[in-house]
Amino acid sequence: MPISLSPSRRQFLQSTLASAALAAASPTLLAQSQPASAKKIGYALVGLGQLNIHQILPAFAHTQNSRPTALVSGHPEKARALARQYNIPESSIYTYETYDKLKDNAEVDAVYIALPNSMHAEYTIRAAAAGKHVFCEKPMANTPEDCRKMIDACKKADRKLMIGYRMRYEPHTTTAIDLIKSGSLGKVKLIQSVHSFNIAPTPPQWRLDKKRSGGGPLVDIGIYCLNACRYLTGEEPTEITAQNFQPTAPDSDPRFKDVEESTVFTLKFPSGILATCSTSYAHMYEGRATVYCEKGTVDLNPAFPYQGVRLKSRTREGIKNYEEIPDVDQFAKELEHFSQCLLENKTPRTPGEEGLKDVRLIQSIYQAASSSKTVHVE
Ligand code: NAD
Repeated sequence: MPISLSPSRRQFLQSTLASAALAAASPTLLAQSQPASAKKIGYALVGLGQLNIHQILPAFAHTQNSRPTALVSGHPEKARALARQYNIPESSIYTYETYDKLKDNAEVDAVYIALPNSMHAEYTIRAAAAGKHVFCEKPMANTPEDCRKMIDACKKADRKLMIGYRMRYEPHTTTAIDLIKSGSLGKVKLIQSVHSFNIAPTPPQWRLDKKRSGGGPLVDIGIYCLNACRYLTGEEPTEITAQNFQPTAPDSDPRFKDVEESTVFTLKFPSGILATCSTSYAHMYEGRATVYCEKGTVDLNPAFPYQGVRLKSRTREGIKNYEEIPDVDQFAKELEHFSQCLLENKTPRTPGEEGLKDVRLIQSIYQAASSSKTVHVE
């Protein structure tokens, strides 16, 4: 049945400033070069923070099938300025209170949710009730129960749900997955992954407020290590151990009053693969994933930046650098994929069920850390 379409992250930012500036400078030019007849999926951007302003809005210019058609914000001045910049009519600016009125806007097919993590569930459920498809940022929600409610709401409304796992649309990463899957390097034995940055205390950071974030670096950036272990092995972990560190002394770092500073965890997979992962909000930016196989090593380093992911493999024959693989706008790739799924009535590569798996595992990692015991996962 055809689907009905209603007509101190500074390190991250530095690595993408050039592409964002280029995109922001030329959206009109790129839009004009597209065939007028092609249907473009219209998106309402929900939450005009760092991600939506610096990555998602500019990314539309690098897509063939997607366009921003509405904005949802609690800051009218900011929304009006961005609406002017991206040719969005003022009548398509909504607040969190008028959000449900999106249902009457035929130019909006889907919403893109880039709000603090604790708000993902509510704004997904309300979007589905308004008849809109939902592209929601990671982590999907703060609890598996909320993830389940999001999936159910989208199913009930016959709307699609995708979670923003941008690495799954990044070509160095997909090449690494294919290389490992090909078996040419033998079986995977060990994985090591790290993803950290040194978080700024200001502006007041919802990431450091457990109620809104759901946790510390694990839910925000450690989730990349977790997801990488799953996509690089194609297996689901069955055993988990973990440790958290949160400074407790009265004179300790005020950033970590409410959330942990660092988390390390290990995963055991059914075939015997072991993974060790680390994530922190307290050291200089680092993001890597190294896969040790019987006959070689696959190294994604850096593994998770917006731009500049690098892939290398090493065997007895020597080192191969995959320099021919181009850098892409990962956010544009994700948007294009979701829009294509809507146009062709297909299930997205990273649906709600994928987000739920990670959130369940994150819950088990916290359980392992607090109990100091191995947690067995079904
Ligand atoms: P941000 O703080 O820059 O933006 C959050 C937005 O939500 C702001 O516009 C803020 O005004 C709005 N907001 C509404 N209610 C709020 C409240 N009660 N408290 C705080 N803010 C409120 O955050 P961000 O970096 O844009 O992150 C947004 C989401 O995107 C998060 O879920 C994050 O995990 C995700 N994210 C994903 C990536 C990625 O690479 N996929 C990168 C960055 C962020």
